[in-house]
Amino acid sequence: VGLEPGEMAVLLAESGLGEKEARMRARQLWNWIYVNGATDFQAMTNIAKPMRETLAEGFVVQRPEIVTEQVSADGTRKWLFRFTDPATPNAPPVDVETVYIPEEDRGTLCVSSQVGCTLTCSFCHTGTQRLVRNLTAGEILNQILAARDRLGDFPGGVRPTDGLVPEGESRAITNIVMMGMGEPLYNYDNVKKALLIAASGDGISLSKRRITLSTSGVVPYIEPTGREIGVSLAISLHAVRDDLRNELVPINKKWPLAELIAACHSYPGLNNARRITFEYVMLKGINDSDADARELVRLLAGIPAKNNLIPFNPWPGSPYECSDWDRIEGFAEIVNRAGYASPVRTPRGRDISAACGQRKAETERLTRKQREALEGA
Ligand code: SAH
Ligand code: SF4
Repeated sequence: VGLEPGEMAVLLAESGLGEKEARMRARQLWNWIYVNGATDFQAMTNIAKPMRETLAEGFVVQRPEIVTEQVSADGTRKWLFRFTDPATPNAPPVDVETVYIPEEDRGTLCVSSQVGCTLTCSFCHTGTQRLVRNLTAGEILNQILAARDRLGDFPGGVRPTDGLVPEGESRAITNIVMMGMGEPLYNYDNVKKALLIAASGDGISLSKRRITLSTSGVVPYIEPTGREIGVSLAISLHAVRDDLRNELVPINKKWPLAELIAACHSYPGLNNARRITFEYVMLKGINDSDADARELVRLLAGIPAKNNLIPFNPWPGSPYECSDWDRIEGFAEIVNRAGYASPVRTPRGRDISAACGQRKAETERLTRKQREALEGA
């Protein structure tokens, strides 16, 4: 999982297939994996049995272990998936969180790109955890495939009866957001590979418009993201002055606002139908004044943009509070009046710690358990 057809063909050729057959098999395998959701070579009935056995000896298509699956009162689902890196099977497994957010007209899967994060945004729980490692393209895709299994999204699948799945949609997962743990542009190659397979018509076949990558502002990778991946972009802005953004989103010290905004202006493929989403976490008394809202409008001038105001989700020991509701409304009104849509993101799945920036506690608890297991405790 996570190999391009060409790479798959090369590996198959190495295991003894002729070039032409290797290419044909690679196409079949892609279809089985991404269209049919096969998790076992034995299910691949148009491949002869001896060939299936050879494949099973050299390759794996199975899903991660599901450590937990939680369903929130609002229908949000959170999975903790456990991955073992096939390249280094002796390394300790890693646990990754993936969240499904059903709405009336869509179902969004929030996917992680890294275990932990190297960055230390002061309002983000993930930011207090060190980086364990990058996820591979296969692990990024396997979050989507495993969620599709659980939501009955493959042919012959069965929809869960608890929780919600949007009505009138043939698929439970219609949108992907790279907004889970980690900074996707610090794992660019794997994220690119995974998203191109997710968008490929022979792969998971999700429209690029329905895939959004969120970055804290890794400026040198913004233009390549548009040109090479072509998905929608979201920027974690959160502050409109460098002094404050340096504090909230420390990567700003490396690539300050002027550089970030310049990169947004030239993001490939932008137009009024295809806007950049600016995420803005509402922190009481920190970044939520009318003056901040006006400065935000000034900063975005000329960029096809929409805003996403995110109520701060507190976590134990977090140094901030969420802005009051009427303050959020006042802020939104200024930005709306200037012509930028500024919906306030409804916190989802708070009861299962699935909301933005809450992804950590669970992982830490499990890591400790894992450590004990490894130490033989
Ligand atoms: N690393 C990427 C992807 C994470 S996306 C990025 O930072 O863009 C998750 C979004 O949730 C980001 O906009 C992040 O800034 C925001 N977020 C993090 N912690 C939060 C919290 N406690 N409350 C609300 N939003 C938070
Ligand atoms: Fe990392 Fe994004 Fe959290 Fe910042 S907000 S610490 S970049 S996951």
